[in-house]
Amino acid sequence: MTISKMDVFVLPLKVRAVRAHGIGEVAGSIDTVLLRLEAEDGHTGWGEAAPWAVFTGTAEAAFAALDTYLRSLVIGADPTGIAGIMQQADQALTGHPEAKAALETALLDLVGRQRNVPVWALLGGKCRDRIPLSVSVADPDWDRDRVFVTRMVEDEGIGILKLKTGFADHAFDVMRADDIRTRWPEIDLRIDYNQGLVPRDALRSLRDFDSMGLGFIEQPVPARQWECMAELKSALDTPLLADESVFSAEDMLRAAQAQIADAVSVKIMKCGGPRAGLVIARMAEAAGWGAYGGDMFETGIAHLAGAHMIAAAPQINMGCEYYHARHHLEIDTLSKPFPDTAGTVYVPDGPGLGIGVNEELVRSQCRLHCT
Ligand SMILES: [Mg+2]
Repeated sequence: MTISKMDVFVLPLKVRAVRAHGIGEVAGSIDTVLLRLEAEDGHTGWGEAAPWAVFTGTAEAAFAALDTYLRSLVIGADPTGIAGIMQQADQALTGHPEAKAALETALLDLVGRQRNVPVWALLGGKCRDRIPLSVSVADPDWDRDRVFVTRMVEDEGIGILKLKTGFADHAFDVMRADDIRTRWPEIDLRIDYNQGLVPRDALRSLRDFDSMGLGFIEQPVPARQWECMAELKSALDTPLLADESVFSAEDMLRAAQAQIADAVSVKIMKCGGPRAGLVIARMAEAAGWGAYGGDMFETGIAHLAGAHMIAAAPQINMGCEYYHARHHLEIDTLSKPFPDTAGTVYVPDGPGLGIGVNEELVRSQCRLHCT
């Protein structure tokens, strides 16, 4: 049963609050790119590319990558040939990991629905069916964010918080971390600079957090400042986590050799799909690193792809941050809510990604569509 139809959409997503990060702010709305594949037998598969211009790329580039450069690999192809199609995609187009993540997710979803098996089964079977959920705290207005954090911890049962730091001044970062620590001492608190510190000041700032018992400090300095990352790792007691420094398996190899961190954030939008994510997780384990399920500004489609990947990856054992769909975006693309309750993501067992897409919403709210 070959693939007969391919649709690509750009969908603007309204965000609920301002999100500040060391490398940039997200306010108002952000675009996501959705891919719909249809086979001759009528089965469909969906995938998502969630770019961020300052981190991975742009929605327009992901849209063009799928519509112009990858379409010819897909139409008429047997969707079960996932490894072959993804190899051709890498040969046809350099970079564009978000577009490749969308393609691989849509192929896995389609084949899973055709064969009546979940995506995790196509990725080697599952080792877990629930994942601890981390929620990020990133509003520059701390009074407003404190209300959000209280709701997340006390009403939603969230047990892991990731405080975004490095976008204002150091005293503001320490005050917020202290406030959370004092109010909820049992919370697994982590901080993420998104490259926000300059190397010459980084150690002095980070030492102030070293006695707070943080889970990890994520990407304190710019992505390519590997020597500085390695120095910080050896100088600090708190584990260091690499995000922007490690996109691909090649990055992971060199990062492990240079000992720049203790753990890595595995994101399908950085590495190009769940299969590449499994490779990076296995490499991290071989290097003695931990692995965490990171994300971008994703809807439920990409969250589900990540959840199936983590279900099949024993090495990704530091939780995930698939909270945008339910806790940060005004709308989601799924036909049912993304499955997280009481601080836990439940991996679906249904065919494909396990939850369908609200196609009417996608078609009525998209700002670009190619078929
Ligand atoms: Mg990060």
